[in-house]
Amino acid sequence: SVRSAGGDSIVSLSKSSHAALNRRSIVEKRLLLALDQKNLHVLYQPQVDLKSGNITAVEALVRWDDEEIGAVSPDELIPIAEETGLINNIGSFMLEKACEQAVLWKNAGHAIKVSINSSVREFRDKNMAKSILETLERTGCPANLLQIEITEKFALEAEAETGIIKQMRALEKEGIVFVLDDFGTGYGSFRYMQLLPISILKIDQTFIHSLKSKKNQQLVNGMVQLGKSMNLTVVAEGVETEEQMQFLTSIGCDFIQGYFVSKPSSTEEISSLLL
Ligand code: C2E
Ligand code: MG
Ligand code: MG
Ligand code: MG
Repeated sequence: SVRSAGGDSIVSLSKSSHAALNRRSIVEKRLLLALDQKNLHVLYQPQVDLKSGNITAVEALVRWDDEEIGAVSPDELIPIAEETGLINNIGSFMLEKACEQAVLWKNAGHAIKVSINSSVREFRDKNMAKSILETLERTGCPANLLQIEITEKFALEAEAETGIIKQMRALEKEGIVFVLDDFGTGYGSFRYMQLLPISILKIDQTFIHSLKSKKNQQLVNGMVQLGKSMNLTVVAEGVETEEQMQFLTSIGCDFIQGYFVSKPSSTEEISSLLL
């Protein structure tokens, strides 16, 4: 921090960081309780195959509406959970729910994949791969119905930690598919595509939202062609308009996800979309 002449800025800085710390400790405390009481829930957002128009997968997104502090968005929740280690509890909760739900849909005649988001900290647990496989077994969910989304931040850290890559490879061998999420926003994406067992690229929504510009159209086209040339499946996230969908169809993008198809929804809403 920089000391200003009057010293006022020091006071206000420490006040605001005190408030932030306070908020964090409240969130952490409530989160522990919510996990204990299983008060988190899951919404699912469909992914549509642009060739067939069918929903072939859904992404599981955590939701938390606390009775004392109200709704806490994933953008606030996830970083706090990552720092405190509670992300491992959130991760296993989401995995369990996603697997149970995949089985329910499968039994209803819809073999749709469920995609969960994973943080690198979860994969630092040496038993991560084993416990994922155990959850599949326990819930009766086939491995090929599970997708795991990792971000480029995850990839960056995984690069230096062979234990993480080993676990990813073990899971891939069993039929679990890895998705590189938020593609294009990080550094060195191409290296990760080479190093990690990734089958799907998910183009970050910031590129999709700016498709009105010719330059961004060329950029997104480049990303799609790159993915295809590496035999990867390409998903565009954050698709909000028909124009965006049409452009993505015209350049051969495989799947879209976004408000244009559906917002993240309850299992009942997804089930009715599947009919
Ligand atoms: P993400 O994995 O990239 O998920 C996509 C985010 O974009 C979701 O936000 C989704 O609600 C939002 N979204 C989807 N379609 C549209 C659209 O058309 N327009 C716009 N503007 N937004 C759209 P959400 O649910 O708030 O999640 C934010 C991030 O939090 C996720 O980004 C993911 O990185 C993380 N996250 C969410 N759930 C989990 C979880 O269970 N575990 C972990 N580790 N991270 C999670
Ligand atoms: Mg995701
Ligand atoms: Mg994303
Ligand atoms: Mg994101």
